[in-house]
Amino acid sequence: MAELAQLLEDWEPVIGLEVHVQLATATKIFSPSATTFGAPANSLTDPLVMGMPGTLPVFNRSVLELALRLGVATGSQIRSKSRFARKHYFYPDQPKGYQISQFDEPLCENGHIDVILAGAVKRVKLERIHLEEDAGKNTHVGAVSHVDLNRAGVPLVEVVTAPELTSSEEAAEFMRSLHRLVRWLEISEADMEKGQLRCDANVSVRLRGEDRLGTRTELKNINSFKFVQNAIDHEIARQLRLIDSGGQVQRETRLWDATLGQSAPMRSKEEANDYRYFPDPDLPPLVVDGATMANILRALPELPAARFERYQKMQNLSADDARTLVGDRALADYFDTAIKARPGDTGRTIANWMLTELLGALNAGGITVAQSPMPPERLAALVVLVETGVISGKIGKEIFEESYRTGEEPAAIVQRRGVQQISDEPLLTAIIDSVVKRHQKQAEDYASGKDGLFGFFVGQVMKETQGRANPVMATELLHKRLGR
Ligand code: ADP
Ligand code: MG
Repeated sequence: MAELAQLLEDWEPVIGLEVHVQLATATKIFSPSATTFGAPANSLTDPLVMGMPGTLPVFNRSVLELALRLGVATGSQIRSKSRFARKHYFYPDQPKGYQISQFDEPLCENGHIDVILAGAVKRVKLERIHLEEDAGKNTHVGAVSHVDLNRAGVPLVEVVTAPELTSSEEAAEFMRSLHRLVRWLEISEADMEKGQLRCDANVSVRLRGEDRLGTRTELKNINSFKFVQNAIDHEIARQLRLIDSGGQVQRETRLWDATLGQSAPMRSKEEANDYRYFPDPDLPPLVVDGATMANILRALPELPAARFERYQKMQNLSADDARTLVGDRALADYFDTAIKARPGDTGRTIANWMLTELLGALNAGGITVAQSPMPPERLAALVVLVETGVISGKIGKEIFEESYRTGEEPAAIVQRRGVQQISDEPLLTAIIDSVVKRHQKQAEDYASGKDGLFGFFVGQVMKETQGRANPVMATELLHKRLGR
């Protein structure tokens, strides 16, 4: 059988994702029960969630606000009148026998998400973003099954991409970008371990150059970035081997088993008409008026992909540093405040200090950047002291540590400790002269080719000045004095 790498030269993987994101509202989408995670089983239910006859759904307006933020941030067309539909299927985690979702008139269409790949940004099209309610959770213990309806009715948006991701890495990066975006917009914590962000991956392969899509399979309910990548890799390999050995991919839904590292067929794919969709007669059309849209637009923050590019272009950051900074909105906001406090060429240096000293200290203390005892303006002030040569980088780290711990201004610490760098040329020349005179033997050995001794002299000068000699200047003057 042909090698996988060889098959991939002829065949192109095509992936489309359907991602569910729980929206962080206090109460459920159509009833007043709380959405708290981890409450005792079935403690967050009400007659509507339990599917009691005669109950009626009432739409929770705060769901709309959160969904619209995502719609606008993804450049989607927003439907001014969208509609809820019933999607029927019988399963114990959904007592009323249907899920309230949106079908042919979803809230958002034709948006896109900018995925930050290694260095570049890829724009991935979205077919739609619609609203729906989550189902409950079944747990199977041997022959017994338990149903917990706490999750039933928690608001979800389903984000559906066009089939245009071409590798498992791209799919995983898409998930990371969406994760970052929904957190950035403060519409969901998107904690994957709590199931707040999870996806179904549709996978097919086609001969390179072919326009038509191949037959796809759908992998259900993947809840980690790593599983997305592993499950898709595994599925691409399975399809290619199947085709290579003369078989055909069947349209089916498969379940990924992360422990076994393989997938198994779950059911043959149901079609839309199996769900008997029809407009929910209990809910009026969902209307989005101009005033609502204007409010959402006004509050829209600069998005991660835009900042990623701005940091590289305007602040001269490496792609890696820019990506790390936009990984978390609080971190990016910290950086923006710091560079605003000290405009100029300090962006790159400020980023370095943030990503090493600041993050190091925050991590050691187990706190987040939002809780940092060192405000951005103060870090920027410290960076300027180093950049302008008032103190050395090494002393700067000590000052950082002290300022972080005590809250004292860096300049004040420098004054008090008298650790200003010595950049006075005549003074340094005199110090170097006395050092060389005291180590005549080493100076001769260095002159005759013992290169390693240069470091010895730098060390002596530093010792003499308690580490305060301007290292660039000292090195230059030493070379001059030692003759090479
Ligand atoms: P459903 O899965 O509910 O039937 P759709 O038909 O709208 O819904 O497709 C859902 C997802 O499947 C989308 O993300 C779409 O991009 C993706 N998709 C559709 N056809 C293919 C294909 N042949 N290969 C890979 N992904 C596909
Ligand atoms: Mg699907």
